[in-house]
Amino acid sequence: MASLFEKDITELRGVGPKRATLFKKIGAPTVGDLLRLYPRAYEDWRDCVPIRSAAMNEVNVVKATVLRRPTQTRVRGGMTLYKTAATDGQDDLQLTFFNNRYIPTLLEEGKTYVFRGKVTGMLLRREMVSPAFVPESKAQDMAPVYPQTEGLSSRQISAAMAEALRLLPETVRDPLPDALRMEYTLCRLEYALKTVHFPRTPEELATARRRLVFEEFLVLQLGMAQIRRAGARENPYPLPNDCTEAFEKLLPFAMTGAQKRAVADALRDMNGPHPMNRLIQGDVGSGKTAVAAALCFNVIRNGMQAALMAPTEILAAQHYESLSALLAPANIRTALLTSSTKAKERRALLASLESGEIDLLIGTHALLNEQVSFRRLALVITDEQHRFGVAQRTALAKKGVFPHTLVMSATPIPRTLALMVYGDLDVSVLDELPPGRTPVKTYLIDPEKRERAFGFIRKRLAEGRQAYIVCPLIEEGESGAENLAEYSRLVGESFPGVAVGVLHGKLKPKDKDAVMASFASGQIRLLLATTVVEVGVDVPNAVVMMIENAERYGLSQLHQLRGRVGRGKFESFCILVSDPENHDALHRLKLFASTNDGFKVADEDLKLRGPGDFFGERQHGLPKLRIADMMSDMGILHEAQRCAKALAQEDPALEKPEHRALRAEIRQLFASQGGAVVL
Ligand code: ADP
Ligand code: MG
Repeated sequence: MASLFEKDITELRGVGPKRATLFKKIGAPTVGDLLRLYPRAYEDWRDCVPIRSAAMNEVNVVKATVLRRPTQTRVRGGMTLYKTAATDGQDDLQLTFFNNRYIPTLLEEGKTYVFRGKVTGMLLRREMVSPAFVPESKAQDMAPVYPQTEGLSSRQISAAMAEALRLLPETVRDPLPDALRMEYTLCRLEYALKTVHFPRTPEELATARRRLVFEEFLVLQLGMAQIRRAGARENPYPLPNDCTEAFEKLLPFAMTGAQKRAVADALRDMNGPHPMNRLIQGDVGSGKTAVAAALCFNVIRNGMQAALMAPTEILAAQHYESLSALLAPANIRTALLTSSTKAKERRALLASLESGEIDLLIGTHALLNEQVSFRRLALVITDEQHRFGVAQRTALAKKGVFPHTLVMSATPIPRTLALMVYGDLDVSVLDELPPGRTPVKTYLIDPEKRERAFGFIRKRLAEGRQAYIVCPLIEEGESGAENLAEYSRLVGESFPGVAVGVLHGKLKPKDKDAVMASFASGQIRLLLATTVVEVGVDVPNAVVMMIENAERYGLSQLHQLRGRVGRGKFESFCILVSDPENHDALHRLKLFASTNDGFKVADEDLKLRGPGDFFGERQHGLPKLRIADMMSDMGILHEAQRCAKALAQEDPALEKPEHRALRAEIRQLFASQGGAVVL
């Protein structure tokens, strides 16, 4: 049976090598992949209306008989028009098609068809231009709409799908065993596949979808459980001594309750039976670095090494500066390794790392380089985890070392989503900001007030503070202020005598670092930047974050940007510049301006924009969901989680014969999409 699913797409009637390339492009090299390419929407073909009562300028479905053979007229511009008319017995409908020479053969005089399209014209002369249509005998209530690509229309995909379904045998090997389907009231796979592509009613579709969504979530959950199992080896680096008190003496401040809890969680893990695998979620400014430092200190005092990985050189350098200063009094030796470390220095560094002279190595993903080897690496921390992805997280483990891992994320992720994406991790939340912070004040202004905002910034600069202005770098051709070059001219004029730096993604990393370093040192007073400033940079003297075209950003991204200010003792401001005419955006931005709580912002963002905004495409390293929707299918997710837990109890390695198909499914899903699962 598996053979049908592995059949090459060209084995379908009507799919030649040329079209096969297009099918590959949309992710369906085999018949099985095609069957799992679900419609992204359905066109409703029910509710046929009499031509007379069709709503003007809206999509309508009408059943009508073609009155005459379509006639062809050539018009200017090389266009060919085909015109005919159809009647429902009472009224006529004019039909016009462009450049489709098959129309005369597809629409036969005297035959009845169902047409679907926008009705235009006037009361007495109604018209449809290029409607979709099917012969009455083939009419279906709901037509699937597929993600198409150039040269391959949704209708062609639909035809291939019908062909593929025709090949589907009576009984497909169903990855969900009967008992499980009974328990969770799920239909059979073949019924689900047939129905999801060609549903007859919304109720049938719901039944089919439920089953497929459940399966998708279940396979994902089980896959993650397998990762957990694979990681559940003996703890090679237990930490018998808790040295947190000694660490606290080094800190210039007292840890918050949340920081203490996170440290305790992690220490408990690291002294437990298995290597730690923990996520720390903390809003910007919640003090994740201190937690990281406390854990590194503990590991090092217990005679082992630690590594801290940051997504950018700027951030790595910043961590290096603050941590080496903090830990040096305790005779802890810290080193920085990035791709710009000079060869000679690098050789020396790698040698002392291997000999164990270096206790803590900080750097970018250069740390993952195969030449880097530690004497006794017990802890790997990755900062701003969402930028790395699961694949990189496991890269160190692939080197044969299985250290404790801690990932730190400043993107607050709503709980349900965290469960889904980080299902294989334990989570600590830093839900308490260090004391003495004045919350950032957020203002929303329209572009006419820009001059006043500039005036406000000039005042802060005159007081010795610094400021950011973020504006999107847009391709040429768009209007004035949106263009970075244009905009920087405007800023230059508005801030005479001020040292302005420009930072954008097209700069070389070296130049970027130079600009950032000079802003951090206070030479540059005003930084004009695209969103590259988003990640973790700490310049406490910067007190204004002005964001142009704020409506272009997701709330979580805005929150990250806002987190760049309010990091020191000065009162800080975030100014959102946005055109008030866009009501949806206005609503979002108003909400954003009203709270400083990152988790609230994240929840709202999830509601408004869906989960895509939290992780770039596949950044989290998990397979992409094909049918499930994380927002609307939350209920099914919970059921699938319950089921996954029960299975993990009953048959953790999925070795029972009735689970074999399910196991194959998991392996295939994670393998085909480049996930980092070791099964
Ligand atoms: P993030 O969680 O965004 O990485 P950081 O670790 O950069 O936050 O901390 C932000 C600032 O707060 C730093 O300047 C840090 O020294 C300071 N800080 C961290 N913890 C505390 C604390 N418990 N009390 C006072 N200041 C703190
Ligand atoms: Mg940080």
